[in-house]
Amino acid sequence: MGVEQIRARAHAKVNLHLGVGQARADGYHELVTIFQSLSLHDELELKVLSKRAPKHGSVIDTLTLSGQAKGVPDDEDNLVWQAVDKLVAAYRAEGIGQLPMVELHLRKGIPVAGGMAGGSADAAAALRVTQAWLSEHADPLPESVLESIAAELGSDVPFTLHGGTMLGTGRGENLIPVMSRGHYHWVLAVSAAGLSTPEVFHKLDQLRESGRELPAHTDTTVLSRSLLNGDVAAVAANLVNDLQAPAISLRPGLRQILAAGEEAGALRGIVSGSGPTCAFLCRDAAHAAEVAGELIDSGLVIAAHPAQGPAEGAHVVPETF
Ligand code: ATP
Repeated sequence: MGVEQIRARAHAKVNLHLGVGQARADGYHELVTIFQSLSLHDELELKVLSKRAPKHGSVIDTLTLSGQAKGVPDDEDNLVWQAVDKLVAAYRAEGIGQLPMVELHLRKGIPVAGGMAGGSADAAAALRVTQAWLSEHADPLPESVLESIAAELGSDVPFTLHGGTMLGTGRGENLIPVMSRGHYHWVLAVSAAGLSTPEVFHKLDQLRESGRELPAHTDTTVLSRSLLNGDVAAVAANLVNDLQAPAISLRPGLRQILAAGEEAGALRGIVSGSGPTCAFLCRDAAHAAEVAGELIDSGLVIAAHPAQGPAEGAHVVPETF
């Protein structure tokens, strides 16, 4: 075996626009979303062991976790595990020989169940480390195979594989790049307990059924133009999240957090994805540090992380732990 240890970075995302349509027959909602990847990230390490893996079963010996990993499974329920198994199966279908077992270590920096696609980004990083490992021992499978496995694993996995700034439609898995100029400075305000993404979507359906005026925002024209111009004030003014109302309905305290960040001077605060993390867009890095400090002092959040976007998608990094 050439490479013994491979490490990849998994970047969080924020939705600059999240328009949510009706639930489809398959249970998913039709989305029109603009994703931006953020510097905030998890790290995944794959270490090749000397013992042999069974011919057909999983190659994963153990998955260990560190960092803010409360509630994250360390078995095959973890998306990382599923991603490795699926890409290994694709290589086996192409006739790769017997493989050794591997050990995985995931260090969480992205808030869990925070609406920042942490699990999805980890799955994307798992595809990257597995690809880097197996492409040393067989003809590399094309990127399109990783993309289709990503879409099977979850709606946000394809975006977290690519990163940058992208428009997502369908479940969010049909992606095209969005032209974006400049860097955006955010503060991510983390709540003590997460929110379940399916529950937030369900709440939106309930609120709409009960007659609340919550239209699906499907037009991203003005935001796209603001991104193209690199006009941070215009981007702030045009941030949209159709899941904000249901997230606040499930967690009324989010209203106070959004108000506290804006009082601290943020250009705009918005619930990130399905929440409960709140994302505050700031003028520059110094401004973000100031807003983060005030949010911590408010006592309303357990952490406030400054972060920049757009960042890269999941990618292999040279250093080891
Ligand atoms: P999204 O923004 O994509 O809706 P999220 O950021 O709100 O997702 P995640 O942090 O991805 O939520 O985790 C949601 C749940 O998924 C967790 O509570 C956990 O049970 C499960 N899970 C599976 N794999 C992972 C992983 N690698 N990291 C975190 N959670 C995972």
